[in-house]
Order: sequence, then structure tokens, then C-alpha cells
Amino acid sequence: NAATLEDTVRRLRLGERATLAQAMTLVESNHPRHQPLSTQLLDAIMPFTGNALRLGITGTPGAGKSTFLEAFGMLLIHHGLRVAVIAVDPSSPVSGGSILGDKTRMTELARAESAFIRPVPSSGHLGGASQRARELMLLCEAAGFDVAIVETVGVGQSETEVAGMVDCFISLQIAGGGDDLQGIKKGLMEMADLVVINKDDGENHISVAIARHMYESALHILRRKYDEWQPRVLTCSALEKRGIEEVWQAITDFKTCLTVSGRLEKVRQQQAVDWLHQQAEEEALHLLFARADFDRYFQQTLQAVKNNDLSPRTGLRHISEFIQHHYFQ
Ligand code: GDP
Repeated sequence: NAATLEDTVRRLRLGERATLAQAMTLVESNHPRHQPLSTQLLDAIMPFTGNALRLGITGTPGAGKSTFLEAFGMLLIHHGLRVAVIAVDPSSPVSGGSILGDKTRMTELARAESAFIRPVPSSGHLGGASQRARELMLLCEAAGFDVAIVETVGVGQSETEVAGMVDCFISLQIAGGGDDLQGIKKGLMEMADLVVINKDDGENHISVAIARHMYESALHILRRKYDEWQPRVLTCSALEKRGIEEVWQAITDFKTCLTVSGRLEKVRQQQAVDWLHQQAEEEALHLLFARADFDRYFQQTLQAVKNNDLSPRTGLRHISEFIQHHYFQ
């Protein structure tokens, strides 16, 4: 009811951890019974969102994401900031917990009063987990966190989705092994605002320097994401906690640059619009295929195309005519 909702929002805004965790569980729930309440909650917190710096970080398993986030998160806390980490794991099963939720990850940060870590297991279909990460991030903002970080493994769709919900997108890379070029996936480089090459320690210095040069060259060739920002390549050792402050400095430079130009506000607006656009398309398709008459006609047409009785183009025309005749008359 309204009183409980109001109370939840009040407690959330006080930064109460238990309330934040409960609110996250509610928002994550797929149960239809929870939908009205979670929608109400998200609506109610909307005025209190938008105040955090939103960071996305991606990297292959073993690149050092958790080691980096541990060092980075502790540095931010040292600067007096409150940090939330939302760890999206597209590879983990629906239930039974998340690999990223493993207790051994980010142990120091997990214990810190000013930090909050939340693993998001996959919902079974691609995109589900990262879509929910967006809403969890909003809850963290309402709870007063200064920096909200969405972490994801560098595979498939999740990278693009995370890039579409943050202010600054960081690609964590490692050098060496002769597979340096793997990191220079065109799409990924075009999304990255910063490239951070980790494990710049021990005997890795030379391979890291070579990799750095390669990434810098690649970034100079590619078309810029924003006119006012040339993506930077940095190196660090998360293990030895070196170069972490420089990463934070580059992030604040990026933020200042995009704030001054007015770009950050526009980017956030566009992200919200893109989100609605994409969800609306999915919803429309879902509603269409939920109609038995359409589904039957669609299957018949597919079969006809399969049998070579219809060309795909004519099949498409039939489906289009069916939709127009049945639903738009
Ligand atoms: P994640 O899978 O991306 O989260 O990677 P982890 O943070 O779990 O790190 C994978 C392995 O790389 C672990 O054995 C870490 O100790 C190691 N590692 C992480 N950062 C560094 C680093 O800066 N230097 C070195 N030498 N090893 C690192």
C-alpha cells in the first residue's frame, strides 16, 4: 500500500542497505504479482535518480575485473565516495546464484560500509540481466551512491547493452599471448571511452607497452564517439594497485569534458529514448505473436515458403496484409 511504499522510498533514500537489497529483489522478480509494486517503486524513486556517475566496465574472464574493481572501489571510498557495483553475469544460470557473486570476489570492497555489491544472474534470455541492471542502478542512485558501476563479461549483447546505460564505458584489457588483436574488436573499440590495460607488472611491461600502442593507433583510426573526447588508453596493475588513481582521473576528465559541452545530458536522454524504443518494439512483437490467429497464419506462411510455394518476399507481403487487414481496419 501507499504507506509502505512511502516508507520504503524514505528508507531507501537514507541509504539503508537492507531496504536497498529488498528493493532490488523486488525489481528483479519476474513474478507477475510483484510487477505492480516494483513499477510503483521505480516511479516513486525517479525524482531521486540521476545523481550518480554511471560507469560500465567490461572485460574477458580473467582480465582482472574483480581485482580492478576492488582496488578502484577502495580508492573511491578513500576519496569519500559511496560506490555501488552491479555485476551482470550473462553466463550464469537463472537460479543457484551467480559466478560473479562468489564470495571470494571483491572481499575488501564487499565488507566496506560505503560499498554495495550486487550480482545479477542471467534471466535465461539474453539481455534480461543487463536490462534489469539499469533499474538496479537507479535504485542505487536513489540510495545516494555517488558512483554506480555496472560490470559485465565481454561477450555478445551484454556489452552493447551496458554501454547503452552508462556515462562512461571502460574496456579492461590484458596484453600478450599473441591475441592482442582480439581486444580490438571494432564494435567494442567504438563504444569504449577509456581502454585500460591491466596487469602492467612483473614481466608484462613490454607486451603492455606494445598493446597500448596498438590500442592507441586503433582508436585514432576509428571514428570518434564524441567530437570533444578522444578515448584514452591507460595501463594499470590492479594486483599491485598502481595506475588506479590515473584511471579515476581520466574518468573525471571525461565527465568534465562531456558535462561542459552539455553532451552528458543529451546522452542520458537518448539512452532513455532508445531503451523505450527497443522495449516497445519487443512488446509489440510479443503482443502480435500472442494472437493465435496471427501465429497460425504466420506458421502457414513459413511452411509455404519452406515448400517453395511462395517466395519469401510474397510471404512477407501476405503477413503484412494479414496484419493490416486484421488489426488496422
Ligand atoms: P575477472 O575474471 O576479470 O574478474 O578477473 P579476476 O579479477 O578474477 O582476476 C583473474 C586473475 O588475474 C586472478 O588470478 C588475479 O589475481 C589476476 N590479476 C588480476 N589483476 C592483476 C594484475 O594487475 N596483475 C597480475 N599479474 N595479475 C592480476
